[in-house]
Amino acid sequence: MDFQISLLRRQDATNKISVILDPSVLVIGRPDESKKALLAWETVCTPKTAGGFNVVQLRTWNRAAICKLLWCLSNKKDRLWVRWINAYYGKYMHDWAVPKQASWVVQKIIKARTYMLDTGLDVEEVLGWSSFSVKNMYVQMRGNFQKVHWKKLTCNNAGSPKWIFVLNLTAQNKLLTRDRSASWGITQDVICPLCNVENESANHLFFACAFSEGIWATILAWQGIRRNVLEWKDEVQYATTRASGNSVSACIYRMSIAASIYQIWAERNMRIFQSKSGNPDLIIRQVIREVVGRGTMRARLARKLEELNSYP
Ligand SMILES: [Zn+2]
Repeated sequence: MDFQISLLRRQDATNKISVILDPSVLVIGRPDESKKALLAWETVCTPKTAGGFNVVQLRTWNRAAICKLLWCLSNKKDRLWVRWINAYYGKYMHDWAVPKQASWVVQKIIKARTYMLDTGLDVEEVLGWSSFSVKNMYVQMRGNFQKVHWKKLTCNNAGSPKWIFVLNLTAQNKLLTRDRSASWGITQDVICPLCNVENESANHLFFACAFSEGIWATILAWQGIRRNVLEWKDEVQYATTRASGNSVSACIYRMSIAASIYQIWAERNMRIFQSKSGNPDLIIRQVIREVVGRGTMRARLARKLEELNSYP
């Protein structure tokens, strides 16, 4: 892959150019593509139930880890480093005053008290805990998030991570479909490459487009579900109300919709970027093959999938 890391260039009075790495402008992507991010980093770091990918916020995790050092300072009196700090700075440490003589590291540990206060925690109570979990502290420091209504579609989905990734972006309407590309001025062509009739949007692509409607109708029938294909938002509603449980059929349904969306998106990208096109039958076969292949690795899904292991 041809990735580029954007760097800041700074020119000083002597005309020397120095390159500095500024995290605020760090962008990874192809050099000839837009640098717009599909998702805000804050969203990527939120829990999966809130529509994110649960990526650890390193700044917050680091603060939680420093809080643990503060907890150790008052609870692990037998540790050498704790005894050392108490011996050197103990006499200066009153009422959370930071000893000026202390090294930067020690000062940082004592100042971790403010992180606890900012989180709304009682410092004395935290220091009185019998054990300290950095993860639990991290979760508390990160705060609460509003859950998304489609969380049951992506959480507890046995599908491939790449399917879930595309499904998540689709549910948030963050896929770079042509309507969004056009609104950013990246392209003027907004016609759906699957049907070449209507404008492309996530709502059209999944499953209002005649091409994808046929695929999803066949995949529904393959699962034994007799109903018409709905619009995307109604399909999400169906999945979050009627296929949200832990039953075998609900698990297979969630895998199937994730795999179908991924394959339709892949077909759309292949048509745009490689000028190649597949046919619906091949996509249907691929969805079924991959759902059966992944699903049968789970013992409770294996029996049902073996019954379904044929092409419609
Ligand atoms: Zn279309």
